[in-house]
Amino acid sequence: MPKDFTNKLLEWNRNQNNRSMPWKGESDPYRIWLSEIILQQTRVEQGTAYYKKFISFFPTIVDLANASEKDIFKNWEGLGYYTRCRNLIATARIIAFEYGGLFPSAYPEILALPGIGQYTAAAISSFAFGLPYAVIDGNVERIIARYFGISTPVGSAAGKKEYIRIAADLLDIKNPAVYNQAIMDFGATICKPQNPLCVHCIQARDCYAFQKGMINKFPLKKPSLKRKKRWLYYFIVNAGKDKIWIRERTEKDIWQNLYEFILWETGKIIPQDKVHKTSFFRDNFGKRGFCIRHISEAFSQTLTHQSITGLFVHLNKPLDKVPGYQSVSKESLMEYPFPKIISDYIKNSPFL
Ligand code: SF4
Repeated sequence: MPKDFTNKLLEWNRNQNNRSMPWKGESDPYRIWLSEIILQQTRVEQGTAYYKKFISFFPTIVDLANASEKDIFKNWEGLGYYTRCRNLIATARIIAFEYGGLFPSAYPEILALPGIGQYTAAAISSFAFGLPYAVIDGNVERIIARYFGISTPVGSAAGKKEYIRIAADLLDIKNPAVYNQAIMDFGATICKPQNPLCVHCIQARDCYAFQKGMINKFPLKKPSLKRKKRWLYYFIVNAGKDKIWIRERTEKDIWQNLYEFILWETGKIIPQDKVHKTSFFRDNFGKRGFCIRHISEAFSQTLTHQSITGLFVHLNKPLDKVPGYQSVSKESLMEYPFPKIISDYIKNSPFL
């Protein structure tokens, strides 16, 4: 049964797979790694532009390792999941400064690098070095669950082991790069999450889910966690003529290393006409004669475990000093990496 699946997958790959991507067939481990990190939690259409931008700004891993964090985060801005970017920087520096700029070629060494999990390690090992490691991610788990009728939830501890074992059995160990690319492409174009192309699928005759009419039942998922809600009020205060107060987020929290305006986080949304009556406003601004010039509508951003609502509050006059914040010119504001919710506001606000 595993061999039937593999043979048919390779046959489909030879005769019908015409999916193209800029990094397909690439054997440079730096480029493979970059594409895989960018594509974690990002759609190919969006990731492609970022991949091209990174290759053009940082043609080698040494260029990336030597670049400033601010420049790298700025290039990453909009992709989200900023831990990926921090790990990207850490890994580039390890390879540039500890491995002499050469990507390690052994699977355990690749897996030990920051931000590289089993999927990415298998992709780099097989595409760049021809090593027999099977890629496994949500796409591969979905294909396996449907084809074999596996009812262990993906994301559970038991599921993780089971899917890894089956994926390893399916791998064509003589040609792991071709097999891994084929199963990724098959998941993206045929056995898609919604509306898989079962009637045209080469695997249909032996596919459990298709034969039983249970496509939508597989894969089973672990119940999802409830998202924590957060309300962030950003006070936009001038620091003299055409300058503004911002700071880098350094706490171990979302958006570490990105920038923001003067932040007040509340446990709930505050009606617009009550913001100037809150103790935060009174203690920080009200007692010094500040008034609110404008409050934006609510902007939202959904992260994996959090749902964020942000509002932007413009004050009427400048402040001389704000401890922990730096003053930057409005003109240079967009050179700083911001969370999406803030950069969207900056781009669209008539006040900035
Ligand atoms: S028949 Fe449908 S569900 Fe089964 S492998 Fe093919 S596309 Fe996926």
